[in-house]
Amino acid sequence: MAIKVYNTLTRKKEAFKPINLGRIGWYNCGPTVYNYIHIGNARNVVCFDIIRRYFEYSGYEVKFAQNYTDIDDKMINRARELGISVPELADKFIRQYEKDAAMLNVRLPTVSPRATYHIKQIIGQIKKIQEKGYAYETEDGVYFDVSKFRKYGKLSGQNIDELKKGARVDINEKKKDPLDFALWKKEKPNEPSWDSPWGKGRPGWHIECSAMNTTYLGDTFDIHSGGKDLIFPHHENEIAQAESATGKKYVKYWLHNAFLNINREKMSKSLGNFMTADEALKRFDPRAIRFFFLETHYRSEIDFSEENITTAKHSLERIDNFVFANKDAAENPKVRKIVDKYKKGFIKAMDDDFETPNAVAAIFEMIKEVNKIGTGKEAYDFLVEIDSVLGVLKKEEGKINEDIENLIEERENARKSRDFRKADNIRDELKSKGIILEDTDKGVRWKRV
Ligand code: AMP
Ligand code: ZN
Repeated sequence: MAIKVYNTLTRKKEAFKPINLGRIGWYNCGPTVYNYIHIGNARNVVCFDIIRRYFEYSGYEVKFAQNYTDIDDKMINRARELGISVPELADKFIRQYEKDAAMLNVRLPTVSPRATYHIKQIIGQIKKIQEKGYAYETEDGVYFDVSKFRKYGKLSGQNIDELKKGARVDINEKKKDPLDFALWKKEKPNEPSWDSPWGKGRPGWHIECSAMNTTYLGDTFDIHSGGKDLIFPHHENEIAQAESATGKKYVKYWLHNAFLNINREKMSKSLGNFMTADEALKRFDPRAIRFFFLETHYRSEIDFSEENITTAKHSLERIDNFVFANKDAAENPKVRKIVDKYKKGFIKAMDDDFETPNAVAAIFEMIKEVNKIGTGKEAYDFLVEIDSVLGVLKKEEGKINEDIENLIEERENARKSRDFRKADNIRDELKSKGIILEDTDKGVRWKRV
C-alpha cells in the first residue's frame, strides 16, 4: 500500500508518488538564526524528521534540504544589539541549532544552504522573474507584481480580492499594491549589502527559499514543508516566484505542521510566551520531548506543559522496561505472530498521513499482548527496527543497525577479495534476519522485508 499524505495544495490526502521512482526531493523552511529556537520550532523539526525517516524506512532515498535564514531585519537588529557582525551571529546560532537538533535526535539535512552564500542564485531568479514581466523596480527595491500571477492564492485557497482585505500595509515599502512583496531591498545605511543589477542591497525573505531549493532540488520537486503559519504569505509567494521564473509546477506535495501552543495560544517569539529548546532540553529528558511530539498527529495542535512532558516520559518508561525485559530473551514463535500483527498496524498507521498516535497505540497493544504470554527476542528486534523512524529508544538500542552494517561491510570485503562463498553466506545470514540486500550503482543498500 502506498503512503498517503495530506497535501495543503489540494486539501486532500493523496497517494504519494514521487517524481523520480524511489527518490524524494524535499525542502523544509528552516530557522532564522538570530536567536535560540523555541520548543514550537522544535516541533516542526521533529515532526518532519520522523516523516523523513519513515520515507527512508519505506525504501525511499530522501534528499532533504533545509535553509538557514541568515539575513533579514531580525538578524541585523540582533547583531547590532550584541555588537557583533551578522555572519558571527549566524554562525553562533547555526551551531546552537545543530546542537539542539542532535539532542532531539533529529538528523541533519542532506543540504543546509545559507541565504548569504547564494546571492548569485537569488539574483538569477529575480532576473528571470523580471524578464518575464512579473516584477517592477521602485526607488527602494524590486517587487513581485501579484496581480500578474493568475494562480496567486491557490495554496491558501483564497482569491486575490479576499487576500487584499487581510493584507497588512507596510507604510515603509514603496510598492503598487499591499499584496506585492519585496524580491530585493535596496541598501539602507549601515546594513549588509551585495551588488546586484538594481544596485547594492539584500534579498527579501521569500526569494531565498525558492532560489535555493530549485538550485538543489530542481525546478519541480516532491515535498515542501513548514509550519502552517508559513502557508500565507511565505509559501504562496514562493510558488508565485518559482512558477513565474520557471514556467513549471513548483512543488507536488505541501505539508504543514500545526502549532505547539502554550495555554492555548501559539508559542511564538513575538508573543514572548516561549521556552527555548535549549532550556527544555536541560529541564526534560530529550527522549520524552520527542515522544511527546509523537503522541500527537503532526497536523493537530499540541499543548505544551511540564505535566504533558512528564506523562510522555512515563509512557516512554513503559517501553524502556519492555525493551529491557526482552532484549536478551529467547526467540518465541508466539511473539513473532504478535509482532507481525502489530508491525502491520504500525505501517498502516504511518502510511495514513503519518498517524503517529495510532502507531504508538499499536506499540502499546503489542507490549500488552506479549507481556501476557512472556517474552520474545522478536519483540525487541521489532522495537529497534521501528526506532529507525521514531528515534526514542536509549542510544545503545541502535546497536542492531550497527551489526547489520558491519556484516554488510564484511560481505563487501569478501567480494572484493573474491571470496564469493563467504559473501553468499553473509547474504543468507542477513536474509534469515529479514534483511534484503540490493546492489546499486551507489553501493549496497539494505532494507527489511
Ligand atoms: P520561524 O523561525 O518563526 O520562522 O519558525 C521556524 C519554523 O517553525 C517554521 O516552519 C514555523 O512555521 C515553525 N513554527 C513557529 N512557531 C511554531 C509553533 N508554535 N508550533 C509549531 N511550529 C512553529
Ligand atoms: Zn521558506
